[in-house]
Amino acid sequence: MIKAKNVKFDYIRRDEDENVVAIETAIDDISFDVKKGDFIAILGHNGSGKSTLAKHLNALLIPEEGSIYVNDIDTKDEDMLWEIRQTTGMVFQNPDNQIVYNTVEEDVAFGLENLNVPEKEIKSKVKSALESVGMFKWRKKSPNTFSGGQKQRIAIAGVLAMNPSCIVFDEATALLDPIGRKDVLETVMKLNKEKNITIIWITHNMDEVIKADKVFVMNKGKIVMEGRPKEVFSRVEELIDYQLEVPQVTMLAYELKKRGLPIEEGILSPEELADNIALFV
Ligand code: ADP
Ligand code: MG
Repeated sequence: MIKAKNVKFDYIRRDEDENVVAIETAIDDISFDVKKGDFIAILGHNGSGKSTLAKHLNALLIPEEGSIYVNDIDTKDEDMLWEIRQTTGMVFQNPDNQIVYNTVEEDVAFGLENLNVPEKEIKSKVKSALESVGMFKWRKKSPNTFSGGQKQRIAIAGVLAMNPSCIVFDEATALLDPIGRKDVLETVMKLNKEKNITIIWITHNMDEVIKADKVFVMNKGKIVMEGRPKEVFSRVEELIDYQLEVPQVTMLAYELKKRGLPIEEGILSPEELADNIALFV
């Protein structure tokens, strides 16, 4: 679905005379493969390069060195730009920046109207997209009356209406309250399971990656850890080095293990920890 090969990207700052004053390497030789239907989580502290990477996945940015392929299409191929943007949808942090219209259904139809899709087809696509995120019954309302979580679900419906095979979420829950966060994550997991949509879930919230198929940890523009959540979470000291907040239960299990209790590595839930403790009590 997505292939990144030795991707490098620098932000170049220039002064008024166009002289280069600073070069910031945001992506530094990254390679990875994402299979169709995968749920990939990308973790990393602020400034580690997550958003820059996200923008490469639908050709908002083009690598300076190396290549990104989306369904075997090189993102450098300008003739295929719309094909790429339709294949890989994006949902960003702030839902308010993604809402344009007066009613939910107009908002979700926005992308399709730009593509001159026939009216009847738009109607049925919008309906099915809104049903998938549980917002159909509010289609006639103004998007501004909703909570952050509901607005994000409307934004997701707008992307879904374009029938993408992959959706990239760049810290899409960062501004939401805990209920909105849970709602959005559950909606996304359902789309992954039921529609086999590939998900790239970018976050710095460790609790949100537990159910991912695979986790990438980014630091200074590189992928520094990669594996199943359990594998990654068993490497507590490295996670701390990369300035990630390890979930409390993982931290507790790690401390107990350090003190000699026979506890598994990479504990991710209170239930798992309780099971481990029950074994020796
Ligand atoms: P993250 O999303 O993980 O916080 P970013 O991809 O936004 O990381 O940023 C990676 C690095 O690139 C940071 O050092 C940041 O300061 C720099 N950067 C990001 N956007 C720009 C930009 N538009 N101009 C210059 N530097 C940028
Ligand atoms: Mg970011």
